[in-house]
Amino acid sequence: MHLTQKRGGFDLHTHSVCSDGTTRPAAVAEEAAELGLEGFSLTDHDTIIGWDEAREAARGAGIDFLPGIEITTKFRGSSRHLLGYGIRPGSEELFAALAVVRESRLSRAREMVRRLSVDYDITWEKVAAEDDEGTVGRPHIADALVTAGYARDRSAAFAELLHPGTPYYIGTAAIEASEAIRLVRAAGGFPVLAHPAAQRQRRPLPVADLAELSAAGLGGIELDHPENRAEWLPELRAAATEHHLEITGASDYHGAGKPNRLGERTSPAELISRIRQVVAVPH
Ligand code: AMP
Ligand code: ZN
Ligand code: FE
Ligand code: FE
Repeated sequence: MHLTQKRGGFDLHTHSVCSDGTTRPAAVAEEAAELGLEGFSLTDHDTIIGWDEAREAARGAGIDFLPGIEITTKFRGSSRHLLGYGIRPGSEELFAALAVVRESRLSRAREMVRRLSVDYDITWEKVAAEDDEGTVGRPHIADALVTAGYARDRSAAFAELLHPGTPYYIGTAAIEASEAIRLVRAAGGFPVLAHPAAQRQRRPLPVADLAELSAAGLGGIELDHPENRAEWLPELRAAATEHHLEITGASDYHGAGKPNRLGERTSPAELISRIRQVVAVPH
């Protein structure tokens, strides 16, 4: 098989340096084109500042671009991530809510660093140096710990020092998932629940919760994601079909920040066409 053979499909969930990925938005576009993907969506955490660069680079590389975002939400006390495709950048209500989330991320990260600095030689300046621009999160703290020699890589830093069981951990503000779904729809976007059966969660999304989120306007569910646990999927798949949800596939690429490889899971072009028909910003 030739390396540049077309694999087709769209990778609908990727991160850049505008949140906790390690590659520029333009580099994600170039890598996607090199892999032979038809297109991709940039879905940085709680921000859309990478859109313009990604869109322009996609055009230059001759591949398709669908604008997206991954919103920090919660439902019944559990952290849940909501992907929003094609939202209008001028949507005041949605972006005001996102500003609150980013503000909380910043103060929470500062406090986590303060707690860590009691036991480790780590400072806010060192963490800020790991954040190019955009949304700050635990991955940037992880990178500073790696740079300082306290962990082998990001995953080790999470496992040893940054998970919720450590005394350093602090949660971050999240939008109620049903409210976030409403805000995404009001902004002309298409809401998709991200990685509903991720390994790192204690349990998959309960099907009763999926029913409620569907009633709130959820449009799709990311059942094909490298971190979803296979044994949790059949029940969710049946419920997704019952609620007429689109089923998406994506890698959740973070560059060198996570093992997920760009394009390892994809969605078909027909699905992207259906999404485009209902969103305010299809390209
Ligand atoms: P935060 O939203 O700041 O609490 O950080 C959570 C983010 O860190 C998630 O969105 C993941 O992308 C990333 N993450 C979670 N666990 C790991 C891990 N073990 N290794 C690398 N990145 C991780
Ligand atoms: Zn992330
Ligand atoms: Fe996520
Ligand atoms: Fe993600």
